[in-house]
Amino acid sequence: MKTKRLRSLSLATLLVTSLLIAPMPGSLVPAAWAQSADQAAETQMTLIRAGHLVDPATGTATPNQDILIERNNRTGEGRIQAIGRNLDAPPGTEVIDLSDHYVTGGLVDAHDHLAITYKEEPESNQYYFTTLMDSTPIRAIQAFSTGFQKLASGFTIVRDLGNNGLYADTALRHAIEQGWVPGPTIINAGIIIGAFGGQFFEIPEREDTVYPEYLNADTDDEIVKAIRRNIHYGAKVIKVCVDCQAYPYTADQLKLFVSEAANAGRKVSGHVQTHEGALRAIEAGLWSIDHDNAMTPEIHTMMAEKGIWRVGTETPKADWARTSDARWERRVAMLRDAYDKGVKLAFSTDADYFIRGLDRGELTLEFIETWKAAGIPDADILKVMTTNGYEISELENERGPVQEGFAADLIAMRGNPLEDIDALYDVDFVMKDGLVFKHEGVVAPMDFFHNGPAYGWRVR
Ligand SMILES: [Zn+2]
Repeated sequence: MKTKRLRSLSLATLLVTSLLIAPMPGSLVPAAWAQSADQAAETQMTLIRAGHLVDPATGTATPNQDILIERNNRTGEGRIQAIGRNLDAPPGTEVIDLSDHYVTGGLVDAHDHLAITYKEEPESNQYYFTTLMDSTPIRAIQAFSTGFQKLASGFTIVRDLGNNGLYADTALRHAIEQGWVPGPTIINAGIIIGAFGGQFFEIPEREDTVYPEYLNADTDDEIVKAIRRNIHYGAKVIKVCVDCQAYPYTADQLKLFVSEAANAGRKVSGHVQTHEGALRAIEAGLWSIDHDNAMTPEIHTMMAEKGIWRVGTETPKADWARTSDARWERRVAMLRDAYDKGVKLAFSTDADYFIRGLDRGELTLEFIETWKAAGIPDADILKVMTTNGYEISELENERGPVQEGFAADLIAMRGNPLEDIDALYDVDFVMKDGLVFKHEGVVAPMDFFHNGPAYGWRVR
C-alpha cells in the first residue's frame, strides 16, 4: 500500500514536471492542471469484492456485492461510493478479493475505558490505586494501545466513558481524528461527574485524590460548570455517576444534566447501581443506563416505554471473571427479560482490566458469551453489536451502516455471523475510513501513521 501510494505520488510529480518543462505559451503551468494532478495523488480508490454483504439491520446477506471506496488522503475521509454487483473499477483501483468472506460494518463497544487498565498485580484490582500510580501520559499511551487492539478485533467505534485521567480520552480522539495514529472512532466522556467523592472512598487527609478521576459537582452551579468544562475539553457525551454515594442525585438534578448537555447537543450516560438511582435516571430521561446491577423486570418495562438505552456491561462467566453463580444467573435472566420486553440494547463491556493471555480486543469479544447464554438469536446479537451501537453513538447517519456516502468502516470474516455469532472471533479483515488496517489476519497499519496532524490540527 505504502509503495503504491508513493508510486502514484511520483507519477503526479512526473506529470507536473513534464508540464513545467514542456514549451507552453505563457510558460506557466495552468493552476488547475497542477491541482488536479495533486488531487489524483491524494485520492485512493479501493474495490472490495465481497462474497456476501451482511446487513445486520435486516438480518440479510446478499451474495456477490462489490463495494467501491474513495479515500482522500488529505482529509482522512474514506467513503463508500457505490455498492452493487460487478462494479467497474476505475483505472488505478486496488481490488481486494473477499469473495470467500462475509463483509459487514464495524462492531461497537458502548462502554469501555481505554485509558485505564487495572490489574491483579500490584493493585489487587483496586483501580483507585491505579489512578494514583499511573500518570495521564502513560494512560494516554495505554489508550492508544487498547484502542488499537480493539480495532484489530473489528471494533470501529468505542464509547469511552471516563476514568481516563486528565482527558487522555480526548487526546486519543484527537490523535486518531487528526491522523497521528489509527484507532476506533471515539465517543468520549471526559471526566465522570459525580457527587462528592465520585466512586472513591477517600480519606479526609487526601480528599483531593478524587480529581482528575471524577469531577465533584454537588450543587446546580457545579453541575453546569462541570458539564461545560468537559465539553470544552472535548467530551462528546456526558457521564454522570447517578448513585455512587449515599447521596444520589435527585431527579431534578439529573434533569439539569440532561438539559445542560442538550444545550451543547450532547447526551447523558448514567452509571447506575441502585433501584432508586434507576428510577430517578428514567424519570430524568437519561440517554442510557449503564451496568446491570439495578435492572429488574419493572425497570425494564419503564426503560422500554421511555426508549432508554440499556448498557448492561454484561461480564461473562469465565476463568478470569470473578462472577458468582447467583450473579451470573441473574445477569443472564435480566438480559433475556430486557430483550423480551424490547428494551433498546447495546453491546458493552467495561473491560478495563488486564487479563493475561487476552488482548483488549479478544477480551471484548468474550462478552458475546453472555448474550449467547441468554438465548438471544445470533442475528440479533450481531444487530446489537452493530446497528444498535451506531445508534447509541449517534453516528447512524454517517458511519457504521454499509451504505453509499457513509464512512468506509468494514470488517470481514469467513463464517456467516447471522447464523453463527462465533464467526466474529475470527474477523481477519478490518478497514477504517477507507484504509486497510488488517488483511488476511495480519494487522499492517503503517498507512495510518503520520509524523504530524495529517488531517489538520483544527480537527478536534
Ligand atoms: Zn465503566
